[in-house]
Amino acid sequence: MSILQVSDLGVTFHTQDGAVNAVNGISFALQAGQTLGIVGESGSGKSQTVLAMMGLLAKNGQASGQVQYHGQDLLTMPTAQLNKIRGDRIAMIFQDPMSSLNPYLTIERQMTEVLELHKGLSRRAAKAHAISLLDAVRIPEAARRITMYPHEFSGGMRQRVMIAMALLCEPEVLIADEPTTALDVTVQAQILNLLKELQRDFDTAIIMITHDLGVVAGLCEQVMVLYGGRIMEYGSAEDIFYQPSHPYTIGLLGALPRLDQEGGALISIPGNPPNMAQLPRGCPFAERCSYQQARCINDVPTLVNKPGSASAWRACHLAVNELHSTLPEAQYV
Ligand code: SF4
Repeated sequence: MSILQVSDLGVTFHTQDGAVNAVNGISFALQAGQTLGIVGESGSGKSQTVLAMMGLLAKNGQASGQVQYHGQDLLTMPTAQLNKIRGDRIAMIFQDPMSSLNPYLTIERQMTEVLELHKGLSRRAAKAHAISLLDAVRIPEAARRITMYPHEFSGGMRQRVMIAMALLCEPEVLIADEPTTALDVTVQAQILNLLKELQRDFDTAIIMITHDLGVVAGLCEQVMVLYGGRIMEYGSAEDIFYQPSHPYTIGLLGALPRLDQEGGALISIPGNPPNMAQLPRGCPFAERCSYQQARCINDVPTLVNKPGSASAWRACHLAVNELHSTLPEAQYV
């Protein structure tokens, strides 16, 4: 059975200029120990999707649909009940650990407080458990460094502390929102490997939010590609990386730097993401799509199973064989 079952999730922001639909019709299921990557450019709706799931939208935001956690809808749950699940059963880590860590408290104080409150541990037992988690995320000399303040750690080490804090209550689901964007590539690789190991050891399900398909390549079993607040393509990592069937996914893959092609300019998708307050009437990707047809301008493509696959979906008016017959060879990965 799924831990999380998200059905037709929508997010609307009520602004002075009217209603803005930031997320439309997002549905997916997450099993124990599974990793889902949600990928898209800034403004695609990926962060708003998880903030809506956690009941953390801005005041003018409104979520619709259902987010079932073990059969209970998080969207209609009383706040006191939701608070018990947030941070305990479903934890989040963010891009900037300094925004989540208290600069005035030592790491020890911040970690033991959570364990005393949520798990009822004594101060001594809480400290021992906190040190074991800092060890698990490879903080050297954890027993000594637990007494330090957040500013005494490097960016990569602070992100490790954040992961350790998120794991304090052994959550079933860990939501990581661009956790490695601010880090250099070496530290980024270390953090991604760490998440993979922790998932194996703790059987935690992970939702990884990122703008970078490269980040999800080695980590995620399922990949959802968002654009303009809608799912463009969704399937296994093999489907997305080896059999991409949507022009936007193909554009994202084409924009990845390749080690086998020396020199030359980096490729990007021409144009910019749409203004969410003035979304196009038809396909949200139409303005930037080189396969655009008349029906793309007027009709929103529905998300349907990819032909021949029960576990992959795409939202595009162009048939898969029409798309592949017009792609240059170099576009395949
Ligand atoms: Fe391109 Fe049309 Fe497919 Fe949208 S529906 S991605 S505009 S071909």
